[in-house]
Amino acid sequence: MTILIHNTKTNRMERYERGTREPMPYANVTLQVGEFRGTSHSNLLWSTSGAMESWVATRNMWGQPIYLPYAFRRIGEGGHAAQSQHYAGTAFDCAQNIGDAKRAQLRALAQRSGLWSYIEPVSLTPTWVHFDRRLGPPACAAGYPLLRRGSVGVYVCILQDALNIACGATLVIDGIYGIATDDVLEFYQAASGLVADGIVGCKTWQALTTRVVGQGFAP
Ligand SMILES: [Zn+2]
Repeated sequence: MTILIHNTKTNRMERYERGTREPMPYANVTLQVGEFRGTSHSNLLWSTSGAMESWVATRNMWGQPIYLPYAFRRIGEGGHAAQSQHYAGTAFDCAQNIGDAKRAQLRALAQRSGLWSYIEPVSLTPTWVHFDRRLGPPACAAGYPLLRRGSVGVYVCILQDALNIACGATLVIDGIYGIATDDVLEFYQAASGLVADGIVGCKTWQALTTRVVGQGFAP
C-alpha cells in the first residue's frame, strides 16, 4: 500500500510503501497502516506529519491503545460530507468501544491537549470521538483551504482525486499542484461555468466536491 505524507515542516510530500500491519510513518507502533485505512478500500492513502504526531502524543497521554475503526476515506468512496477532513487523512473517529464515561475522558483529554484543530461536540458524535488536525484557514466558512499552482499537500491530493473522477483525467496523485493539474482544473472550471483561473477557492471547492463525493472509486 502506498502512503503519501505531507511533511508539514519541510512542505514536501514523502512516499512510503507499507503493509497493513506495519506502523504508519511518524506514528511509530501506536498506529498501524490497517487502522488508519479503516473502511477505505483504497491502496493509496495520505496524511500529514502533523496529524500523525498529534495522534502519537494523544495516545501517549492516554497511556493505552485507542480503538480506531474510521480514519481515512477517498472522496470517491463518500460516506461523509463534501469537504470532510477524513478525505484529507487528518481526521480520526475513535473510542467507540469504551463506554460513555471513558469516551468523555478521552474527548476531554483531546481538548486539553491543544493538539487538534477541531474536536466534534458530543451532540454530533455521541458514540465516538472525532478529532482532526486540518490546515487553516479554509476557503469557505468550513472546509478546505485555497489552492493554486505551487500548492503542496493533502488537499492537492483531494483535488487531483476529484478531478480524475469529474473529468475522467489520469492525473498522478502526488499532492503537488503543477501544470498538469492546472490544465485539468481550468478545463473543469470552464466546463462548469466557473472562472477558469486555476485557483481552487470556495466556489470551485463547493462545485467539485459536491460533484464527486461518493461518485466512484479510483484505487
Ligand atoms: Zn469523523
